Amino acid sequence: MKKIIAMTLLSAMVLSMTACGSKEVTEEATTEAVATEEAATEEGGQLVMATNAEFPPYEYREGDQIVGIDADIAAAIAEELGMELVIEDMQFDSIIAAVQSGKADIGVAGMTVTEDRLVTVNFSDPYTQAAQVIIVKTDSEIATPDALAGKTIGVQLGTTGDLYAEDIEDATIERYNKGFEAVQALTQGKVDAVIIDREPAKVFVEQNEGLKVVDEEFTVEDYAICIAKENSELLEKINTALATLQESGKLDEIKAKYINAE
Ligand code: GLN
Repeated sequence: MKKIIAMTLLSAMVLSMTACGSKEVTEEATTEAVATEEAATEEGGQLVMATNAEFPPYEYREGDQIVGIDADIAAAIAEELGMELVIEDMQFDSIIAAVQSGKADIGVAGMTVTEDRLVTVNFSDPYTQAAQVIIVKTDSEIATPDALAGKTIGVQLGTTGDLYAEDIEDATIERYNKGFEAVQALTQGKVDAVIIDREPAKVFVEQNEGLKVVDEEFTVEDYAICIAKENSELLEKINTALATLQESGKLDEIKAKYINAE
């Protein structure tokens, strides 16, 4: 902890030294330098969001539009920051790399905060509490997470469902690019169960006959927005915007628009 504080102090000193130094340069040059540094995420600029639009009700396609809770939250954040939201649709397991490389500014994809992901990216404050659940056929005898031992389990590649399935004793894991494909495999009897996020699970069960969500949840987790490690300025702005949207009731309003209260 001490080391971190020391480092922060040091970088603050370097920053203030740089700031002092630049005062001697002509004013024009200073403005230009600052403008270049912040070009990626400044007011009036674009906020590029990476997502995987296969995850209703958080992100999915409606005609040629990408809609859903995450799309609306990102749009509200962009509005708070005075920026234009641009959505890039990609495979779920490409999102972190896109954010790390600067191809996207933020990843908003019903993404769970995990220790592993925190090694490569930062996460905003959580904007929703989520859960992993189990989908089975209506006549399945699987009624608890423990009953998954020795079974064949369908998951979406690179998700937390995939991660948790690895810990299940003697289980065989079938990985699919889309959550929907895992659910199809269940309908076709290729897997015994699917581990997936709660709200998408409800949507998929509604869309496919003969399936149900097991009552007992597998885990509880938090969704947050991922941002490149070096982009701490944007992280702060996003957290401030999220807090404003939370206080104004806008976040709850967006969630209620897509999720029916039971
Ligand atoms: N919440 C899960 C994860 O972060 C799944 C997200 C998704 O498939 N979009 O891994």
